[in-house]
Amino acid sequence: MSIAENVAAIRSRIAAAAGDRRVLLVAASKMNGAEAVREAIAAGVDACGENRVQELVEKNAQGAYAGAPLHFIGHLQKNKIKYLVGVADLIESVDSEELLRLIDARALKLGVTQDVLLEVNIGGEAAKSGFDPAALPAALEFCGTLSAVRVRGLMAIPPAAEIPGASRPYFAAMRELYVDIGAKKYDNVSMDFLSMGMSGDFEDAIREGANMVRVGSAIFGPRNYGTSASTGEG
Ligand SMILES: *Cc1c(COP(=O)(O)O)cnc(C)c1O
Repeated sequence: MSIAENVAAIRSRIAAAAGDRRVLLVAASKMNGAEAVREAIAAGVDACGENRVQELVEKNAQGAYAGAPLHFIGHLQKNKIKYLVGVADLIESVDSEELLRLIDARALKLGVTQDVLLEVNIGGEAAKSGFDPAALPAALEFCGTLSAVRVRGLMAIPPAAEIPGASRPYFAAMRELYVDIGAKKYDNVSMDFLSMGMSGDFEDAIREGANMVRVGSAIFGPRNYGTSASTGEG
């Protein structure tokens, strides 16, 4: 199957799960080269998502993302913020007040407004990043003190599921947070995007309320972690 055929197949599965709701398809393109990313954009994905800042910078220099919004979806280190602010249209994986403050400072310096999502550690996993749900109210209040960051929604990666459907309660819990926060009207915060669901579970995520899914291997095929050529020109 070609990338275009995969995207078309995913679109019809999204439509079947979403009914009338609009769901944005983000191509999670880690370890796939610029040519594959261009194919996905030509096939009509709504955005591209990268996990690693260095890979994003390299592929961006190759013009990989022309014609599509660029999202950052990986773990973000403080010292990499300068490469992302004003470059990524949406940073989906902001997981601390310190990152919010540093992103705001960088955006102010550049004279831009940076859109972000807050990542939530919905499974309460020690090894995973993301805000504890209990810490969200304070973080959202804090966003009201910033002038160059806009929170546009929430993102989550639930615990790895052993059996199909096991992620649904986590997706449902995310939707509850999303709806509750949306009803509260924090400054600089709007709940426009609920980003959850990947190749193995995006239909469940959509049924539980996701309006943004991040799909990698179902678009590009299995990732080959064994080679170093995968981030080069395709
Ligand atoms: C890789 C990745 C995805 C996509 O994973 P697949 O299982 O390949 O669809 C989604 N979100 C994040 C944060 C990722 O790192």
